[in-house]
Amino acid sequence: MSEAAPPPKKSALAGRLAKLGVAREADLLLHLPLRYEDETTLTPIAALRSGDPQQVEGLVEHAEVVLRPRRQLVVRLRDDSGVLTLRFLNFYPAQLKQLVPGAQIRAFGEVRSGFWGEEMIHPRTQTVAEAKALPQALTPVYPSTAGLAQSALRKLVARAFERCALDDPLPAELRKALKLPAWERSLRYLHQPPPDAQLAALESRNHPAWRRIKFDELLAQQISLRRAYAERRSHRAYALPAKGQLISRFIEQLPFALTGAQRRAVDQIAEDLAQAHPMQRLLQGDVGSGKTIVAALAMLQAVENGYQAALMAPTEILAEQHYQKLRGWLAPLGLQVAWLAGSQKKREREAMRQLLISGEALMAVGTHALIEDSVLLERLGLAVVDEQHRFGVRQRLALREKVAGALPHMLMMSATPIPRTLAMSYMADLDVSVLDELPPGRTPIVTRLVSAARRDEVIARVRDACREGRQAYWVCPLIEESEALQLKTAEETYASLSSELAELKVGLVHGRLKPADKAAVMEAFVRNAVQVLVATTVIEVGVDVPNASLMVIEHAERFGLAQLHQLRGRVGRGAAASSCVLLYEQPLSENGRQRLKAIYESSDGFEIARRDLQLRGPGEFIGARQSGAQLLRYADPEFDADLVELAQQAANEMLARYPQQADQLLERWFGGRAELLKA
Ligand code: ADP
Ligand code: MG
Repeated sequence: MSEAAPPPKKSALAGRLAKLGVAREADLLLHLPLRYEDETTLTPIAALRSGDPQQVEGLVEHAEVVLRPRRQLVVRLRDDSGVLTLRFLNFYPAQLKQLVPGAQIRAFGEVRSGFWGEEMIHPRTQTVAEAKALPQALTPVYPSTAGLAQSALRKLVARAFERCALDDPLPAELRKALKLPAWERSLRYLHQPPPDAQLAALESRNHPAWRRIKFDELLAQQISLRRAYAERRSHRAYALPAKGQLISRFIEQLPFALTGAQRRAVDQIAEDLAQAHPMQRLLQGDVGSGKTIVAALAMLQAVENGYQAALMAPTEILAEQHYQKLRGWLAPLGLQVAWLAGSQKKREREAMRQLLISGEALMAVGTHALIEDSVLLERLGLAVVDEQHRFGVRQRLALREKVAGALPHMLMMSATPIPRTLAMSYMADLDVSVLDELPPGRTPIVTRLVSAARRDEVIARVRDACREGRQAYWVCPLIEESEALQLKTAEETYASLSSELAELKVGLVHGRLKPADKAAVMEAFVRNAVQVLVATTVIEVGVDVPNASLMVIEHAERFGLAQLHQLRGRVGRGAAASSCVLLYEQPLSENGRQRLKAIYESSDGFEIARRDLQLRGPGEFIGARQSGAQLLRYADPEFDADLVELAQQAANEMLARYPQQADQLLERWFGGRAELLKA
């Protein structure tokens, strides 16, 4: 019996490089410096400026380990112009040997005015022979990791330049039209800028060489996403043209008219559905912009053609609400809707399945239980995914993969507005419709920031609002470390509010509640049998109770911006003036303060998303969507918006005319990882 040999141990070096995202030698070329140090010149000691990193050369006059105020090595260095103190709070025996009186030393470091005059703390030092030539290029400082010295990285990069392909993936003609510098030249410039390089332009990454790198990265991203788009588009789907009968009857019986934005989205979707290849569309719209109706109209179009339509929501509360809403809208048309959820009683589930199997119902609403059930198979024409970012890639794909032969059309909805440039880059594999208009008649929500010390006043406001016949949400703090603690807090808040507001009916809803109990509480809140709903963040998405006009969020400083915006969007849905009270606990962190400020100052989801992007970076927006996939390393779609547009156009041209170079670009940037971008 032969046992498989253990895989060869990765060398320590390979392990460290892997931490930096360097898997292949060629990846070193794309491992670009964070900043540079200028060791190309020497500054006379008398001419040193405080605060700037500079290099000096001189003779060690005196060196001593002093013990007070703490053990440190103090060295006096002299050149023709003056004397400078070098101070080391940590030092190695080798440094003690190097820094001895009479040694000729170059020291590089930042100069500060200390108690005894100018000094350098922890300068980098080297012993030099007199008149040793100075380096010809700025010294790059690379992102590194423990155990990997800058000098080692520099050597590795230099070797990569000798051994790796450096050919330009951009055809010369295209590159000229884009006015971008050549690839190799740009790379060399960034790894080894000449002494006269504009450090400011390099460090702000505005230099043409930087723009070239960022352009290529964005181009690779565009190409990869466009290929994925084309691949999905090459599949067959049922063509579901708008027939008009059901849809016009549905619109007639609505108590309101569609907004212009809703009509535009409906038209775009109607056209997609009529095609014999699958729709891949994202419907973006702020909280309350009316996405559900757009989804319902799309579903009707599938039904008109005799195909099934499914709407999948991330939570049972939300799925249940959609179900009730669709039922209300569709019953007058004589259409049935089935409802599938994990917690359902067996008998109800069976009855619902029967509705679908018999074809009495063509529409189904539910949680991911929809994916697991086998009834939605042959005739699934359209799958709608609400709050798409809440689902993992896998769950969304599962809905699509259920159908053999033809793929269903996919409509994904998101209430987390994605800033335009971010959408253009990361969502290049989707068509996007935007609801940029709220239904008329909404009263703006007044947002108040209130210190937790004034909780009593807030309780009085809740009492007043409910006395006037309205309702309130009271959202309990997010406790990231412990779900149990979060639950406990919610229960305590429920108990205290129940006694403080004894004349009102207070309800409690949280994630641990049995689904049936959860539904019962929500239903009581919808009926106004419960006036104050104490909740954890389970109500974050989609809940729609127009009579609720007051939202209180405790420990608002612990919530993310998108979450606060979603929560606030639960009120302001009816005609009554609504308000949102953000209770915060002192002291506030700087980031917490910024978030509260942003939410206080703006009610526009896109503006808030833009601020969120600044505070947290793009990962949060696309997290679930591209989990595991490569985020952009150098380009910033917001800052480099012009490059995103150029890359988008260039991607078309590369795909059409230069497919081999397109492959080369993908290989260079994503190596074996391009697959991940497709989900
Ligand atoms: P969201 O985009 O957040 O999912 P919903 O679809 O839940 O928004 O809609 C929010 C509220 O606005 C619902 O009560 C819905 O019935 C109502 N609504 C939707 N469209 C319109 C419209 N055109 N005019 C008036 N009210 C509308
Ligand atoms: Mg919604």
